[in-house]
Amino acid sequence: MGVCRAFNHPRDYEEVYNDLIALGESPEPNDVDAIIGNGSWTRLTCDHCKRDVDRAVGIGSNWICFECLNVAHQQVSTVGGQIQAPPGLLEEIQEGG
Ligand SMILES: [Zn+2]
Repeated sequence: MGVCRAFNHPRDYEEVYNDLIALGESPEPNDVDAIIGNGSWTRLTCDHCKRDVDRAVGIGSNWICFECLNVAHQQVSTVGGQIQAPPGLLEEIQEGG
């Protein structure tokens, strides 16, 4: 027996399976979420900003959303041949933090 958090009652795995199959080959994520009881099968959580997103890139064992990737790209972009440090990093290093 599984527990469907959305309805907070036990559901038989076979019932959940049959409900998922009934959605067809291209189900809407929200319909899957309603059956599973959460978005763990249809959403990715960005390991940096912790937001649930539809798309992310796997880097090692981390998932990073495109918004965080864009920020990271801007931070490591070269300016005059030098790599820019993320905001606050130099201050942390100088303060020993
Ligand atoms: Zn993110």
